[in-house]
Amino acid sequence: MKIGVLALQGNFAEHLVSLERIGVQSCEVRLPEQLDSIDGLIIPGGESTTIGKLATDFNLIEPLQRFGRQKAIWGTCAGAIFLSNDTIGRKQPILGLMDIQIERNAFGRQIASFETELPVAAFSAAGLDAADYHAIFIRAPLIAAVGPQVKVISRLSDGRIVAAQQGRLLATSFHPELTTDDRFHRYFISLI
Ligand code: GLN
Repeated sequence: MKIGVLALQGNFAEHLVSLERIGVQSCEVRLPEQLDSIDGLIIPGGESTTIGKLATDFNLIEPLQRFGRQKAIWGTCAGAIFLSNDTIGRKQPILGLMDIQIERNAFGRQIASFETELPVAAFSAAGLDAADYHAIFIRAPLIAAVGPQVKVISRLSDGRIVAAQQGRLLATSFHPELTTDDRFHRYFISLI
């Protein structure tokens, strides 16, 4: 199995380190043909408008949409925004693959970034340790609403949605690549 990490902008190097730590073969993806040799793709956090603009310039939008209709994609933070089909009134290139509505920068500016513990019920079903997950939110988006095909994976204590899954598509508002807790990487691999 080989996992690609979209390497246009943002935290792609950190995801590659996480994948190496769990012993999964990985590669950087910048060109459409590189999608042919991978079984799943991670779209990292960063700046979703920049990722969208570069994906447009590199003719990646359609190939990514085709890939996501057949294979697994996990978007973290800006990557989750890019996977969504609605950025609530903001016009920017997105893949529209997941039926989730995203509120960008929902927690305020960069200084309002925070860390918190999250319950993730799906972990135990996948054979992973069920302990709360320490999540890092950096000028994070919120998953404001999900469609009928979408399963909520995690919520903040006030009920707001921060992780969701639609088949083999996974979206998280936070940054698992910035911790050494690899359970989200392992969970993503379990979807493939
Ligand atoms: N605020 C960024 C955006 O809207 C996302 C931040 C992140 O990926 N950490 O694209």
